[in-house]
Amino acid sequence: MSPPLAVRGVSAAYRDEAVLWDVSFTIPEGRLVGIVGPNGAGKTTMLKVAMGLLRPVAGSVEIFGRPIDRVRRSVGYVPQRGSVDWDFPTDARDVVEMGTYGRLGWLRRPGTAERRTAERCLERVDMLGLADRQIGELSGGQQQRVFIARALAQDARLYLADEPFAGVDYVTERLVVDLLRELRDEGRTVVVVHHDLASVADYFDTVVLLNRELVAAGPTAEVFTRENIARTYGGAARRAEEMRTDG
Ligand code: ADP
Repeated sequence: MSPPLAVRGVSAAYRDEAVLWDVSFTIPEGRLVGIVGPNGAGKTTMLKVAMGLLRPVAGSVEIFGRPIDRVRRSVGYVPQRGSVDWDFPTDARDVVEMGTYGRLGWLRRPGTAERRTAERCLERVDMLGLADRQIGELSGGQQQRVFIARALAQDARLYLADEPFAGVDYVTERLVVDLLRELRDEGRTVVVVHHDLASVADYFDTVVLLNRELVAAGPTAEVFTRENIARTYGGAARRAEEMRTDG
């Protein structure tokens, strides 16, 4: 069977700034994966290329053996919270219900079943009580929970999440990591852009170390080594190592 995510020789750039260089890795099914590297390493860019939001200069990405345009509905994307217009006049319930749209055929409008799914997913992230709240009036942690609920509603086989723990409270982080683990334990594949080195070994069974180029990718126990972390973080390596041993 084709892997959930295969990145083959991807190079990417914005105007004239090269950001990713010949990056290749493959993620097997049923893994919880951290894409880890310093600020500006190209982690978000890698996710954008995988989602088909940015065309690579060279190389390709296959999702379950096919280009993203053919399988978009089986991929759940959790964007960075900061990249979203929170003034958009909609409530938490609607955002989560949107997650179910991919399963509706043409001309079918969401009905009772979709509404129930949305409520069940809001309940899983402990947000049912705030279902009718405008999304702009939620705290950062609550907004992140709504995003996760939408992803759950989507019932995808592959999830791509960009910094889901950035700027959220501790309780939300624990709740989100537990839900991501549940998705993984159900056989789905979850790929998370993550920058907090201290929690990498705890959260992820698979790691992709990235800094413009691929440093290493594979099982956390094999790949998340002192040497590879140093190669990924360069000058920041000593601090990174301190964080790792502290955690
Ligand atoms: P990371 O997620 O690892 O912090 P990014 O993929 O966000 O890294 O960014 C990698 C590099 O690409 C950075 O130097 C950043 O400034 C640049 N960059 C990111 N997005 C854009 C954009 N939309 N236009 C121009 N440059 C960008």
